[in-house]
Amino acid sequence: MTTSLHLHGKRGFDLLHDPLLNKGTAFTDAERDALGLRGLVPPYVNTQEQQLNRVYQSFQRKADELEKYIYLVSLQERNESLFYRLILEPLEEMMPIIYTPTVGLACQRYGHIFRRPHGLYITRKEKGRIRAVLQNWPHADVRVIVITDGERILGLGDLGANGMGIPVGKLSLYTACAGVPPAQCLPVMLDVGTNNQSLRDDPLYIGTPQPRLRGAEFDEIVEEFVVAVQELFPKACIQFEDFGNANAFRLLHRYRDRACTFNDDIQGTAGVTLAGLLSSERLTGTALVDERVLFLGAGEAGIGIGDLFVSAMMSAGLSQDAARRNCWFVDSKGLVVKNRTDLVEHKLRFAHDHAPAKTLLEAIAMVKPTALIGVSGMPQTFTEDVVRAMGKLNQRPVVFALSNPTSQAECTAEQAYGWTDGRAIFASGSPFAPVTLNGKTHVSGQGNNSYIFPGVGLGVLASEASRVTDEMFYVAAKTLASLVTEEDLTLGRIFPDLKRIRQVSAAIAVAVAEVVFARGLTRLSPPVDLAGHVAATIYQPQYRDYV
Ligand code: NAD
Repeated sequence: MTTSLHLHGKRGFDLLHDPLLNKGTAFTDAERDALGLRGLVPPYVNTQEQQLNRVYQSFQRKADELEKYIYLVSLQERNESLFYRLILEPLEEMMPIIYTPTVGLACQRYGHIFRRPHGLYITRKEKGRIRAVLQNWPHADVRVIVITDGERILGLGDLGANGMGIPVGKLSLYTACAGVPPAQCLPVMLDVGTNNQSLRDDPLYIGTPQPRLRGAEFDEIVEEFVVAVQELFPKACIQFEDFGNANAFRLLHRYRDRACTFNDDIQGTAGVTLAGLLSSERLTGTALVDERVLFLGAGEAGIGIGDLFVSAMMSAGLSQDAARRNCWFVDSKGLVVKNRTDLVEHKLRFAHDHAPAKTLLEAIAMVKPTALIGVSGMPQTFTEDVVRAMGKLNQRPVVFALSNPTSQAECTAEQAYGWTDGRAIFASGSPFAPVTLNGKTHVSGQGNNSYIFPGVGLGVLASEASRVTDEMFYVAAKTLASLVTEEDLTLGRIFPDLKRIRQVSAAIAVAVAEVVFARGLTRLSPPVDLAGHVAATIYQPQYRDYV
């Protein structure tokens, strides 16, 4: 019997060309007969394992990372189940391709490697009819939307419409890392132009080759989009991604109490970094309330992390003022202090009454931090002097070089370990290979928000949350840290092994959903077995029988 429920009436050629349903050479004889597929696929019926072997070999034959990216994206366009099987099995090998660092390169070249469209594009031309654009999307039960305007792609700056690689990649991680069903994911590019002249001059650029739209009209487009989403996809969570920092803070502030929304660069990064700090305390012995954290970079990531650290320190007993005094920032003009006149609003709460410092090294000497966190997008800013200074102040200096992609990292793993005789507790936004120093191998952790947002998204989805709150990121961070094993720590890794990411995301989802139910942020009643309810939501990439 045909399970038309799964197939939405699709058969034959249409079925073969629907990536969510296609099984390619794995359609069984019975399916080929019942679904008008006979003759449309080669005679030999493969298992998914055999197909997996074929696509993995093809993947490995690709000469460089960008070719591997193109191969994976093309596979996703043909057969989503097989794509997710492939990226889940050696996730450590696949994540740097579908996400940072390779996705950064793919965005830079997006117009040149473009094959088929993914997601939805919204421009000024669609103003007044954004609802109709959303209605063109073929899936009705959208639950997670990632939207960017491409203004601050990773640490690479304004990449305009080329930034579409980021929502596409992030949503792949929602599915791979947490099992959010692909049919419920929607990537959106809000193409309001670009101030990147070289892109505007590039004849293969895919976006609107005009200067970036600012001001009231930009806000009206965003507003129209949010309202249309709420009407058409009332259970959807909107994740704002890689907007420039002025818009990112503004939009978060405007919508966080009106819509189910969050900003991963601000809140997700904060979650993963707090988890990293909590785990590192098991190695340093420093209590959270005694941490003095110095940030290089006072943008979305830095201030987001600072705010979550403050909440965590307040939960541990400090006053807000005392907690803020434990967080210090250096931006492109030096230490963020009260008597500076050039500070934008989001930095003011961390501007302390203190003498100025021009350089990071001077700031380290004054602040005497226990942890140094790089979120500046500026490569090699954790110089030898800087890292050695951290090593002098601390037996186990915490050094996180979180800027992405790899080319923008504040220092490498090798440098951090090398300049501290292996004492550093190091994490980076993009992965670094293990480093062997004096016979000991150090496996650094990837302090990337992909440990946090997929689980948060799954929890929001499973509980049908109406809002996303900071408390959810706090419990996500604590859950993530609690899953770091002694073995991880012995290796120097302050995050769980990526191999366990689906378990980690499920645990985070349960913790987030508990907050949703406890705070009444859903119309659903709490299920008796919340973990079972979350588990039942998780997409598995194995093929289903259609007949
Ligand atoms: P942003 O543009 O909002 O902020 C950048 C900040 O760095 C600004 O405060 C700026 O003044 C400061 N800065 C620039 N040059 C500097 C210099 N030479 N010295 C000191 N400070 C300087 O960007 P963001 O969203 O905060 O992202 C910053 C970086 O963090 C990016 O590279 C991004 O990829 C990375 N990031 C990583 C993760 C992760 O999961 N690891 C998550 C989010 C962001």
